[in-house]
Amino acid sequence: MNRLRVAVETPAHAGLGDTLDYESEQPLAPGTLVRVPLGRRDVPGIVWPTPDQAFAPDNKDREGAEGFALKPVAEVLVSLPPLPSAWCRLVEFSARYYQRAVGEVALAVLPPELRKLDDAGLAKRMRLQDKRLAKAAVDGSPAAEPQRPPLTGEQAAVLAAFDSAGPACHLLHGVTGSGKTEVYLRLAEAALAVGQQALVLVPEINLTPQLEARFAARFPGRRLVSLHSALTPAQRLANWLAAHRGQAELVLGTRLAIFCPLPRLGLIVVDEEHDPSYKQQDGARYSARDLAVYRGRLENAPVVLGSATPSLESWHHAQTGRYRLLTMAERVGQGPLPSVQVIDMTQQPRPAPGEPPLALAPALKAAVEARVARGEQSLLFLNRRGFAPVLHCTACGWKSACPHCSAWRVFHKLDRTLRCHHCAFTERVPRACPECGNLDIQPIGRGTEKLEEQVGELLQGVVGPGGGPARVARIDADTTRLKGTLEQQLAAMHAGEVDVLVGTQMVTKGHDFRRVTLVAAVDPDGALFTADFRAPERLFATLMQAAGRAGRAAEVAQQSEMWVQTANPGHPLFAALKAHDYARFAASQLREREMAGLPPFAHLALLRAEARDAAVAEGFLRAARDEAHALAGTLGLAEHISLYAPVPPHVARVAGQERRQMLVESGSRAALQRLLAHWVAGLPALRTQHKGIVRWAVDVDPMTI
Ligand code: ADP
Ligand code: ZN
Ligand code: ZN
Repeated sequence: MNRLRVAVETPAHAGLGDTLDYESEQPLAPGTLVRVPLGRRDVPGIVWPTPDQAFAPDNKDREGAEGFALKPVAEVLVSLPPLPSAWCRLVEFSARYYQRAVGEVALAVLPPELRKLDDAGLAKRMRLQDKRLAKAAVDGSPAAEPQRPPLTGEQAAVLAAFDSAGPACHLLHGVTGSGKTEVYLRLAEAALAVGQQALVLVPEINLTPQLEARFAARFPGRRLVSLHSALTPAQRLANWLAAHRGQAELVLGTRLAIFCPLPRLGLIVVDEEHDPSYKQQDGARYSARDLAVYRGRLENAPVVLGSATPSLESWHHAQTGRYRLLTMAERVGQGPLPSVQVIDMTQQPRPAPGEPPLALAPALKAAVEARVARGEQSLLFLNRRGFAPVLHCTACGWKSACPHCSAWRVFHKLDRTLRCHHCAFTERVPRACPECGNLDIQPIGRGTEKLEEQVGELLQGVVGPGGGPARVARIDADTTRLKGTLEQQLAAMHAGEVDVLVGTQMVTKGHDFRRVTLVAAVDPDGALFTADFRAPERLFATLMQAAGRAGRAAEVAQQSEMWVQTANPGHPLFAALKAHDYARFAASQLREREMAGLPPFAHLALLRAEARDAAVAEGFLRAARDEAHALAGTLGLAEHISLYAPVPPHVARVAGQERRQMLVESGSRAALQRLLAHWVAGLPALRTQHKGIVRWAVDVDPMTI
């Protein structure tokens, strides 16, 4: 009998060891998928490398289990090639770094469909897939040589530098339109030419179709698959299998694709590496960008992080030499970047009493009108969906608070609802004030729904070159809820059926709108004054990205403009934006971060807790803080670790639960990791002493604090 470690999905922090021990008549290779008895059920598991096969420290539970009769493995999925040892190491690293159980991470990152199939079912799927592949190979006529544009000087220089660097991590800092995608295509081409597989990550599902189309056009006859959460379970499994079995040569995907096993990995690209969507927000709160860097080193594959506005972490690493910096400063075959107009909203005409504040300053309105008349498109963005962020009663001051959250409910005019964007609690808009019965309840502020309406009114009487009225459309999470609607709306925009597109940040990302010559940030000021230390970095990235939507076609580039409406025109962020000077902005932000002891100069972890009663959540966090304090002393880490008092996050109550969080900070990542490993292990026991804790979690390298 062979004794095996098996990673199974134990509930997080259940206090079980990372892996459980089973026995099997045959020896089974690490990475083999099995089903094992656990409690009264059979559950999926993965034969895990023993510590000498990998690098994991042994754990006490294993020792405690010595001498007990081991249960035999129930089933072995022999059809599936074992997961590579590099995959096991990536999972193991993620679990340790983000403080989760190995089995939890391992099973969570497999395609969900995989755990339902037995060996016969899996074998059948794979046979079907092989047949389809063979048929495609027979049917596929020799594809025409794809068109490859000659490289620009900057692209050629970047590729040459890349070649000479070996498998390092590169930060490709290229302005929007500088041809980063062409660089990715050439790098993938080189990897494929030597029989390797390439992995390309994008931050959002919405961006996969257009990237897929570009890669498919460049690599006819090559096998390309995508991996993201919008695929059907069967498709996701099929694509994952194609990657794992080495059949797919190109894998394009969102953050979850970082865990896709690839036996011949030769390149990892992380496009828009600064995007917060790369950070998973529940379970193991991993950063796919950071794991890409780790995975590249592990599998000896070069990594390219690409962005026009790199995260300050990556920029810092490039400045200090940890990453190789590759720069592309010129747009390809296009005019200059749009000129930036910052409008001082404190100097605009005041609206008449009773009238809502101006949606667009007169100068911006005129600029939009001129575009409509010329048949060019404008993009107006506002990061707040709904009609108005709050309703209020003019008599008694009642406001549309959410009864379950410390947040306002947003007024959605189309279906006349008040909706909480935190807990989704939705009600019809009351006819009269629920407090005093007054009939005059008014919206305060403006969301995209209202902006669309106001812009429609402002442009009344303005006609396009065809003589028709200005056409205004909106894209946000509300208009794109139904499957396929976003594609339809984007297609209408590309087809020139829209003159002015109103939307949330969604419209600023990646889309190659060819006729847009004006982009405007209608009200970006909120981000300047939040407590979130990353807010300026994000706003700058959003504005730069939005600017990049304008003037993408050479014939319209000369008249392209980016407008910003702000009550703070003197803010240094806008000066850097005007100069399209990312480096200047990054340098000033990094100085602030260094002085404030924030990332990348410090490393953070948050312990979050939720309870119906705030005192309970705080009690747990205070006790946890005391433990951390004691541990830091015992481990000799006291001088490296700062522990902060529990505080409420920005929205403290959600769905009736009070949220609190405490921050752990350290100048040394190693010290922080060492403390966390000891501390988090004891938290499940601590929680049981604090009745009423509904949920708790540790977030390593949190996006917001
Ligand atoms: P980025 O990803 O940096 O924003 P893209 O890769 O989308 O830029 O390139 C911008 C535009 O320039 C695209 O339309 C692309 O087809 C075109 N392009 C890129 N490289 C070249 C080249 N070497 N020659 C001609 N056109 C190019
Ligand atoms: Zn009232
Ligand atoms: Zn709510």
